[in-house]
This record gives sequence, C-alpha cells and structure tokens, in this order.
Amino acid sequence: MASNRTFTMIKPDAVRNGHIGAILEQITVSGFKIVALKMTQLTIKDAESFYAIHKERPFYGELVAYMTSGAIVAAILEKENAVEDFRTLVGATNPEDAAEGTIRKKYATSLTENAIHGSDSDDNAAIESAFHFSFREQF
Ligand code: UDP
Ligand code: MG
Repeated sequence: MASNRTFTMIKPDAVRNGHIGAILEQITVSGFKIVALKMTQLTIKDAESFYAIHKERPFYGELVAYMTSGAIVAAILEKENAVEDFRTLVGATNPEDAAEGTIRKKYATSLTENAIHGSDSDDNAAIESAFHFSFREQF
C-alpha cells in the first residue's frame, strides 16, 4: 500500500534565491500537509551519507559541495499517494526537461542546483525523514 508521507528539502540555491515562501505555498495549495519543518544546513558527512547511492557517479563531489553550500529547509509532507504525487509536483531532475508549472521548472538554477528534493520511494521517504526529524518533531 502506498504511504501517505514523503520527505522534501528546499535546496541551497532556492533558499539563497528567496523562494522558501513561494515553494511552501505551492506545496500546500497542491494538497500536501506539512507535518514536520526545519531550516538547517547539511554537513559534508550528512550530504555524503544522504546521497551515498550516487557515490560512484561523476557528479557526486559537485552535489555534496552544493548541498552543503548553505541552508536548506527540510520537511515531511502528508497526502494520499504522497511520494508519487510529490515527484510529479517537483518535476524532472533536469529543469530543462521539467514540465511547465513544476517547482523545478519555476525555481531551479541548473541540473545540479535544482531547487528541491523529493523522496523516490516509501522506504526512502521513511529513511530520509528519520535522518532529519526525531519522533517528537513529526506531527
Ligand atoms: N544531479 C546532478 N547531476 C546529474 C544528476 C543529478 O548534479 O547528472 C544532482 C541533482 O541535484 C539531483 C541529485 O543529484 O537532484 C540526485 O540525483 P537523482 O538522479 O536522484 O535525481 P532526483 O531524484 O533528485 O530527481
Ligand atoms: Mg533521486
């Protein structure tokens, strides 16, 4: 059964460019309820372990440098079919390929600096949520 929760991060480029409010607004008007929220900054160790699946990829070093370059906003979102629906709202990894109206189409800077993260499975949503939020920070 599909889980009703997913995990997101507003990435450093979108925070730097002043898009936190607009992105949270788009998320909530799209039917997602925010059940956990914080502004924080990833350490190199955090980013390396969060993106460990990409460790052999050529962009890994650049990705870790970018994700640790400034503040992020982490959140847990609740909605029916959350993981899949949120990936649709986020848009394709490369903003040039992202559909009109998606968060990446509107706010991403480049393929690496693509404004937002969305979990790709229910299992990863649970792992990524636990990485950032204690039980008492999840509502
Ligand atoms: N990324 C990159 N170059 C690439 C592919 C991905 O810099 O060729 C970055 C980008 O920030 C992306 C993240 O690595 O969001 C994780 O990649 P993934 O393929 O998991 O994309 P996502 O699931 O975020 O759409
Ligand atoms: Mg991914």
